[in-house]
Amino acid sequence: MIELYRLRKEVPSGTETLTILHSLDLSIPDGQFVSIVGPSGSGKSTLLGLIAGLDAPTAGEIRIDGAEITAMDEDTLAQLRGTKIGIVFQSFHLIASLTAFENVLVPMEIAGMRDAQARARSLLADVDLTARAHHYPSQLSGGEQQRVSIARAFSNDPSILLADEPTGNLDTKNGRHVFDLMLKLNRQRGTTLVLITHDHELAALADRRIALRDGHVVGDSGSSVGNEDETAQDGARLATPGAREAKDDAASEDALAASEDALEEAAQQR
Ligand code: ADP
Ligand code: MG
Repeated sequence: MIELYRLRKEVPSGTETLTILHSLDLSIPDGQFVSIVGPSGSGKSTLLGLIAGLDAPTAGEIRIDGAEITAMDEDTLAQLRGTKIGIVFQSFHLIASLTAFENVLVPMEIAGMRDAQARARSLLADVDLTARAHHYPSQLSGGEQQRVSIARAFSNDPSILLADEPTGNLDTKNGRHVFDLMLKLNRQRGTTLVLITHDHELAALADRRIALRDGHVVGDSGSSVGNEDETAQDGARLATPGAREAKDDAASEDALAASEDALEEAAQQR
């Protein structure tokens, strides 16, 4: 469970203070697949960095499985990241001098994980890269590199996967492959998946869709409280309960489309 209470992020900007996130309240239950959408600069990456404990908030609390990470020292935080959180970035963040296999293996070896070699092989198989295991990142396509980074993100069997525009550098086909893979791992392992994306089609496939604008939540298809806009909420509420079961039926798709329109409209009215 990820819980955010009155989460606020400010940064100094000359003599002024720039507020990137305004008092955010959010609760994400275990196993939920949440997409976060919003225009560039709306605070999406900042929010993800805070949840990952890579950045500290100005005010407010973040709890992961009940533990308040804002109060943790760097070692405890690093340990939490190492055991519970996997992160995938738009730009892959692979080490150029290591093969695909080594990129997955090395963090596990550093963490002192047993059977690291066998596990790295199995993770690469999960992302359909067995044949490319000994290739370097420069020898792999963008889609393949992102699949390596997903294998790496899953190496600690995280309960939470945070992905910041993981398909942003990929063409539609490869983006879809990477997305399907994250979805498969979310289902198979019950991983909570928080996905930032510009792709509204992909975003609509999530159990819940949160829209950010200027550091405010302007739409949340999975929340009945704390929503600032009734229009978005009403449209979205139709779409979401049990979205996972209903995902394939046409009525639900219509509802998701309606919810998307409502969210867009709400965002524009602000
Ligand atoms: P998004 O991921 O939605 O595009 P970001 O979270 O990256 O948005 O950034 C939100 C806003 O905060 C942007 O206007 C960005 O320029 C600003 N910002 C982010 N980090 C910093 C920082 N460390 N210092 C100053 N401004 C920042
Ligand atoms: Mg961003």
